[in-house]
Amino acid sequence: MGAVRLHDTHTGELVPLQHPAFPRVGIYACGPTVYSRIHIGNARPFVVFSLLKRFLEHEGYEATLVVNVTDVNDKIYDVARTAGVPSEQLAQEMTAAYMADTDALELGRPDKEPLASETMGSIVAYIEALIKRGHAYESGGDVFFGVRSDSDYGSLSHRRLEDMDQGEPVEGSDRKRDPLDFALWKAHKEGEDTFWDSPWGPGRPGWHIECSAMAEDALGVGFDIHGGGSDLLFPHHENEAAQTRAARGEELARIWMHNGMIQSTGEKMAKSVGNIAPLHEVIERWGRDAVVMYLVSGHYRQPLAFSEAALEQATANVSRIREAARRLTPGPSDDDLGRLREDFFDALANDFNTPAALAHLNEWIRDATGAAIKVKGDAHLREMLGVLGLESLLSAPAEAPPEVEALATQREQARAARDFPAADRLRDEIAALGWEVRDGPAGFELLPR
Ligand SMILES: [Zn+2]
Repeated sequence: MGAVRLHDTHTGELVPLQHPAFPRVGIYACGPTVYSRIHIGNARPFVVFSLLKRFLEHEGYEATLVVNVTDVNDKIYDVARTAGVPSEQLAQEMTAAYMADTDALELGRPDKEPLASETMGSIVAYIEALIKRGHAYESGGDVFFGVRSDSDYGSLSHRRLEDMDQGEPVEGSDRKRDPLDFALWKAHKEGEDTFWDSPWGPGRPGWHIECSAMAEDALGVGFDIHGGGSDLLFPHHENEAAQTRAARGEELARIWMHNGMIQSTGEKMAKSVGNIAPLHEVIERWGRDAVVMYLVSGHYRQPLAFSEAALEQATANVSRIREAARRLTPGPSDDDLGRLREDFFDALANDFNTPAALAHLNEWIRDATGAAIKVKGDAHLREMLGVLGLESLLSAPAEAPPEVEALATQREQARAARDFPAADRLRDEIAALGWEVRDGPAGFELLPR
């Protein structure tokens, strides 16, 4: 078992993963707010933390991954109202769609997937504890967290109080004692069709307290890794951390990990920007192997560009590894390749550096399929691909991904129309994606190159 080090946003350093309950490790990653189908940017934390769990299990840890579903939120009310459907129905439909869309990644499900709507008792009790300890106050049916009551507030996101903006609407600000304060409970408003009873009257919780309660219910306080997108660092994670510190006198998590954003047209992919690529469409077009390959090709902390070229590159990588795997036999790998296998896992142990690990995997393939290696067994490759969620590349090839099929169909049509320059261009495009198209009496056939 190697020493695993991960970047912690709180300290700004690489810290060793050490836990008194070793080998048990708890990971909580903030999941989607279910008001629409998720996009490839939302899939990144799902994939990063699912694979981190796989890696930690490979290293001998017993990892529990919790990814919540935020099914009570302002955005859900807004979208449901516009669509003319009950908010509960929209949340249920989009939760089901999220499950189906992430199932298509074929990485398995997290161990626990709590819903905010099913955690209401714990959320209300949490707010009561905060009021009792003097960190929160009721005002006109709302309950707010008093930010200045937490002397460590800002320590996670490294912000000064004067640079903070909770991003909450002005409405309600007259009820806050301090503009920095944020809502724990929001009184029921006209037109909101889902609400719960509470000691402060009917209403619903704020987003941040939902996560503190769901995380604690699933993993207790002081678990190992809290994860999520870097866009959630402030205010969401700062507020989660503050709530738990204030209510329990302990830190919620030991290590805070943040993944970078998927960028499209030079900006963060977001519904509000209008540059989104829905996950189900991306998988339909490119196949899940290429999508997972694309996501592990970048370091989780860095932004990752989403483009045709990036997915074409991932498709070509998938084809190349598949083709190499066909030249191996099932069974033990040559001892001489052991160092590259170790390099692969060392790269993952060093802040989960998947692109560096992939580079070692590619070196391994080059050596394993070269003339000098005698024992051409696939065991190392199977082990490495399994941790990256790409063990499917070892199974019998090889249906061309839908994208390649589509190009081959276009090429067939071009040939039928006697547009040979176009057909040639399409053949080159198909080749660049790692496939060879052959024409036969029954139509075209696609072979990995
Ligand atoms: Zn959260």
